[in-house]
Amino acid sequence: MRALVIDDSKAIRAILGKMLRDMGYEVAEAEDGQMALEVLKKEAPLDIALVDWNMPQMNGYDFVKAVRAMREYDELRLMMVTTENEISKMIEALDAGADEYVMKPFTKEIIVEKLRLIGMELV
Ligand SMILES: [Mg+2]
Repeated sequence: MRALVIDDSKAIRAILGKMLRDMGYEVAEAEDGQMALEVLKKEAPLDIALVDWNMPQMNGYDFVKAVRAMREYDELRLMMVTTENEISKMIEALDAGADEYVMKPFTKEIIVEKLRLIGMELV
């Protein structure tokens, strides 16, 4: 399985990247939504993207909308991982096409559980 971690925080990319690699994922990274669209194209096919909300250039919400507007990424699972903790934001993201929603701070257990819910758990 191949994952894309999208977050403008280098620390978060490192933490999520390590969790996913430890689970057996191959991991690519991007610093914002715009860069993520390029990585998606270049590294296709990817199985899942973990998407921050607040990022420069293109935020995670706009990234989710952009990806869901393209049929070639229909199989890509999208998981928001964000400090946005209002239910209305979660609903917005799910309406836009996100498959799951994780609030920061997260634990490895939460990430594994959410991956399991969308059939993406490897261990
Ligand atoms: Mg951010």
